[in-house]
Order: sequence, then C-alpha cells, then structure tokens
Amino acid sequence: MKIRAKKSLGQNFLIDQNIIKKIVNTVKIKKNDSIFEIGPGTGNLSFHLLKKNPKKFFAIEKDTNLTNLLNKKFKNKINVINEDILKFNVEKITKDKLIVFGNLPYNISTQILINWITTNKGNPFFKKLILMFQKEVAERILAKTNSKNYGRLSIISNWQLDVKKEFDINPQCFHPKPKIYSTLLTFIPKKKFVILRNPKNLEYITRIFFNQKRKMINKPLKQIFKNYNKIAKNLNLNTNQRPQNLSPSIYFDLTKEYEKIK
Ligand code: SAH
Repeated sequence: MKIRAKKSLGQNFLIDQNIIKKIVNTVKIKKNDSIFEIGPGTGNLSFHLLKKNPKKFFAIEKDTNLTNLLNKKFKNKINVINEDILKFNVEKITKDKLIVFGNLPYNISTQILINWITTNKGNPFFKKLILMFQKEVAERILAKTNSKNYGRLSIISNWQLDVKKEFDINPQCFHPKPKIYSTLLTFIPKKKFVILRNPKNLEYITRIFFNQKRKMINKPLKQIFKNYNKIAKNLNLNTNQRPQNLSPSIYFDLTKEYEKIK
C-alpha cells in the first residue's frame, strides 16, 4: 500500500534511524512495562519500541488507512485503536502505569499535555511521557521565572511533572520535512506537589495574570481577591512586580488561596 502523508493530520514521519533509536533510549523499558504510542503513523518508532519487548503495547491512530497498515505489519503484537486521542480516555485501556510515546502533530502535543495535567487529581495513568514539540513551544514549557518565554505553559507543566529537555531534532529527520525544528521532552510525575482541589483553577489564575502580562500584579490580584492586601502580605508579594517575576510555586499558592474563597 502506498502511503501519502496527510497534511490535515500533521503527518511527518520519522525516517532517521539514529534519532528513532535515541528517542527509544530516553527511557529504560523493562519486561513488565507497558507502552502507549500516540500517532504511530507508519510504525517507524513502533518497530523499535517493539524490540524492547514490552508487556503490553497499545497505540492510538486517527487515520484509518494507517491503522489498517499497522495491523497488517504488527499483527496482534500492537493493539492499535483507531480513534482520536483528543476524545479518548486513556485510563480505560489498562491499569498499568504507561510509558507514553508521541511524535504528534505539534498543536496536539500541547493540548493533550495540558488536558492530562488539568484533569488529573494526583494519580496519573503514566509513569513517563516522551513527547515531541515544536522547538519554540518546548522553550516555553522549559522557561524559568523572569525569562522572556516564561508563562502559563511553564507554570502548568511544572505543577505535577518534572520536565526534561532531551534533544532538538532537525527537520531532515522527517519525511515530509517540516518547516520547523522539534524538541523532545520527557515528563515524570513529581513525588511531591501542591495539592489543588481542581487544577482548572490553576489555568484560571494564570490566565488572569498573563492576560495582562505587562501590568503590575496588583491589578489581577484586585480582580480575583477582595482581600488582596492580605493575600499579598501572606504570600510576601511585591505588588509592583509583573506576572513573569513570580515563581511557579507562587501561582500554586495563589490558586490554593483562590480555592478557599471560591
Ligand atoms: N509517530 C510516527 C508518525 C508521526 S506523524 C513517526 O514518528 O513516524 C503524526 C501521526 O499522528 C500521524 O500518523 C497522524 O495520523 C496521527 N494523528 C494526528 N492527529 C491524531 C489524533 N488526534 N489522534 C491520534 N492520532 C493522530
């Protein structure tokens, strides 16, 4: 079967064998580990993952033609689900803590990451995420307080997860060649993190602050809290600062304060 890449599904297949092996080796896959691959495409990465002999191997692919191709290629060695990851509840496929691989359309990587973080109440279905991002987006996820790229993505991603940059990937490693550089990031659940009643409140708080990125923080504080003076004092905030000057942990504390009055 001849495969033509579909632009609408963000299909850029990995063809560089060295990079594929490097991706697989970002995590030690043991005998009783189970894998979940998102958007396996033609199975270039899946092929190498399978060689690690995982206990179970699930994959989700939206493209029906590719799903058929994968089923022919890998028979029952990979359980390929022909669905859309954005509408899919991963928790229902197994109780195993999954190692999740995804070389996905870039906008989808960010969406599922935020989605999984903000719907998880402290018991994630994965033990590690290995995801590809557009380089600029990866830089925003990794950005430190006070830097230009620091913002909502950095704060939300760092709440429950430890994030690590693995490496950048050149457009030449794909076919068809994308116009941009990619970066591979890995995420593991933190052992300790600030407990929130609803992580969506962290999304809300950071949205209010970063919607007015250039304003001093007394403005969003006043907007959210009636007793903003007391909050500022308790959290030791200098209200002349801008949203980019506050560390992630301040945003977690602000969210906790918000949950008290909500
Ligand atoms: N991982 C493969 C393919 C990358 S291309 C490789 O590295 O070679 C991205 C893949 O994600 C394509 O196969 C595309 O069909 C699939 N895809 C795109 N949107 C999806 C979605 N919403 N849910 C599941 N798969 C999706």
